[in-house]
Amino acid sequence: MALKREIPLASSVPLPYPSPVMPRGKRTVFAVTCPESGGRIGTIRFHKQDKMGVAWKEHAGKLMKYCSVCRKHVKPKFKEERHSK
Ligand SMILES: [Zn+2]
Repeated sequence: MALKREIPLASSVPLPYPSPVMPRGKRTVFAVTCPESGGRIGTIRFHKQDKMGVAWKEHAGKLMKYCSVCRKHVKPKFKEERHSK
């Protein structure tokens, strides 16, 4: 009687972790508005501070957004939005 041992094929596991680790800290929703027309361009989510300790304003300061009212890219304004749900 020969006992055959089945060797599982999953010898090389591509992902060492089952799921990506979610960053800590809440994300805040900001309303993006145009400084010229005052129109709402959209919303954006930022961590108040990322893992490098960079405040969201650092990231937001480099952003340009297209305003459909002015028909150009503008340096948008951000207003924090509260979301109760
Ligand atoms: Zn505009």
